[in-house]
Amino acid sequence: MRYISTRGKSPAQSFEQVLLTGLAPDGGLYVPETLPHYTAAEIVQWTGLSYPELALKIVSPFVDGAIPESKLKELIDKSYQSFSHKAVAPLHMLGANEWILELYCGPTLAFKDFALQLLGHLLDYVLTKNNQKVVILGATSGDTGSAALEGCRHCENVDIFILHPYQRVSEVQRRQMTTVPGNNVHNIAVRGNFDDCQRIVKAAFGDQSFLPQGRQLVAVNSINWARIMAQIVYYFYAALQLGGAQRQVSFSVPTGNFGDIYAGYLAKQMGLPIAQLIIATNSNDILHRFMSRNEYAQSPLQHTLSPSMDIMVSSNFERYLFDMFGRDGDALTKFMTEGHAVDPALWQQARQIFASAAVNDEVTCDVIREVYAETAFLIDPHTAVGVKAARECNADTSIPMITLATAHPVKFADAVTRAGLENPELPEHMRDLFDREERYSVVDNTLSAVTSYVQSHL
Ligand SMILES: *Cc1c(COP(=O)(O)O)cnc(C)c1O
Repeated sequence: MRYISTRGKSPAQSFEQVLLTGLAPDGGLYVPETLPHYTAAEIVQWTGLSYPELALKIVSPFVDGAIPESKLKELIDKSYQSFSHKAVAPLHMLGANEWILELYCGPTLAFKDFALQLLGHLLDYVLTKNNQKVVILGATSGDTGSAALEGCRHCENVDIFILHPYQRVSEVQRRQMTTVPGNNVHNIAVRGNFDDCQRIVKAAFGDQSFLPQGRQLVAVNSINWARIMAQIVYYFYAALQLGGAQRQVSFSVPTGNFGDIYAGYLAKQMGLPIAQLIIATNSNDILHRFMSRNEYAQSPLQHTLSPSMDIMVSSNFERYLFDMFGRDGDALTKFMTEGHAVDPALWQQARQIFASAAVNDEVTCDVIREVYAETAFLIDPHTAVGVKAARECNADTSIPMITLATAHPVKFADAVTRAGLENPELPEHMRDLFDREERYSVVDNTLSAVTSYVQSHL
């Protein structure tokens, strides 16, 4: 399988090449040239597979021989062994036809582990085979950083540098990053905000001459195709638990960057009978404004109780827009640079596929409280945004509605307390988080401060 850029000006690449990079040289994102498609009869045959077994079926055509099948199986098995629940992604019932897919049983308690555990093993295999070393550079406001560090700390050929805004991430989130052991693990606290961190990372990718000869930067945010690929699996897994391809299901997905829900869109394109795909955003609602008003415009960043969805632009939305524009890279480029609204016919087409809702902090707390009162089940604020959107947008209550639970509530204690509930305890493997030694360096808010830090730590 080849991967092409959404901007249409870069050559097609192999799986291995897109794994080891970030954006395409033309500024676009890589997407598969074609998607595998499965009939209902084919999907039903996967009923009863374990999570890693199913992951192998889904991932294999995308990897397309770049890794021998038996080796790929081994890497997938290892990736999901680190999860604390045998089901890997257990379904929890909230009410009649109302479900939660618990995606927080991985080492860092957020759904990003699904992709980043696998990404770490894929990188390790490919780099060892090529006898190649790379540098991972990423910016995080929280969950991506710890999941990436956990995923890559075992990789001998990877040095990983994660930037976070100094004194602007929660204590649990900071400690989850700064207590990860390993000589190849580097946490950089930038004296600035998250946007500054992202700007620095983007500039470093643009000019990589500060790296020693032969090294290149690899992205670990959701512009990396391998992350999206890994996330397609749990849509199939959840649907198969609830009746396979014989019956439709709907998903509500808390999203900011459109990464998680884009994986759901691909699952649907691949043949999974998904009735509704609901985009659930917090007050940073660019996606909801597009879906409800055909308005695609940045508005100022708001800091919410669901910080992992605090974004101004949704980078992966470009991957969907590429399809919406009939895979016309020029039309997409034009829209990305000067567009605000799309042709009404195209907009209606998008509304056939996605519903959407935006949920503010107050309602988020109400929902956390409500769900706890109804079912004695504690959800995190991101999940609460998803549950609210599911309830608001549900068009057919005879179809199971599955909300993706993207984080464990212990990670977002503020919101739980604000909802008037008692904060849950840290899970067993993290009990001593507050006693572990932290390692991080505080660095000035400039590109050169960061690149010289990287240089001197390779
Ligand atoms: C990253 C994250 C999200 C949003 O993911 P997208 O890639 O933007 O879809 C939602 N919830 C949590 C807890 C996250 O960490």
